[in-house]
Amino acid sequence: MGGNGIRRRGLMLVLSSPSGAGKTTISRLLLESDDNLALSISVTTRPKRPDEVDGRDYRFVDPAAFAKMRQAGELLENAQVFGYDYGTPLAPVESALAEGRDVLFDIDWQGARQLVDAAPNDLVSIFILPPSSAELHARLRRRAQDPDDVVAERMRRAPDEISHWNEFNFVVVNRDIQESVGSVRAILAAERLRRERQIGLPDFVRRLCEDL
Ligand code: 5GP
Repeated sequence: MGGNGIRRRGLMLVLSSPSGAGKTTISRLLLESDDNLALSISVTTRPKRPDEVDGRDYRFVDPAAFAKMRQAGELLENAQVFGYDYGTPLAPVESALAEGRDVLFDIDWQGARQLVDAAPNDLVSIFILPPSSAELHARLRRRAQDPDDVVAERMRRAPDEISHWNEFNFVVVNRDIQESVGSVRAILAAERLRRERQIGLPDFVRRLCEDL
């Protein structure tokens, strides 16, 4: 149901960015303030960071378990990032959409491409850019959860990730986190009102006209 009581088709909101641009913080703030948005929890073979919780941030699995899920067709998309496997389990996405909830994906450009192919009409994609190279570096270091070589590797990969900015529907330069969250909320609000997504609209208009 949309805010106006009209039945709506759930949408898939993809947030991508180079590592450290603020995407995870933006996702968290968005989810806290929007009950109709569910986070897609990815599976990964990457080791857990100290403050991460299995089942909340990711499902951490070994390479054999990951390969089994992929072969069984249980992943909506999957990609290798920084040498580890990441993938989106299909079943939770299907059930959230069936309940009319929107689903948020924190995935890279390779995953975003696969979702565009799988569900072009349901997908809204946003790319988050850091305001400068110095700020990206500072944020990666501040995170301080990763060893120095991981930070360096992520900086090295940033230009490649950023080179895909023009494959996304919207681009937000994250100068200020609250401002960026506001921009993403505005995009989500507008996309929810798209005529094609309001599948209850023909009935609503018919009843409206009958009563006029
Ligand atoms: P991190 O290891 O920092 O959590 O994530 C590294 C990168 O992998 C990020 O750009 C993140 O968006 C991406 N990522 C996380 N989960 C998935 C997924 O399920 N699929 C894809 N394609 N990328 C993912």
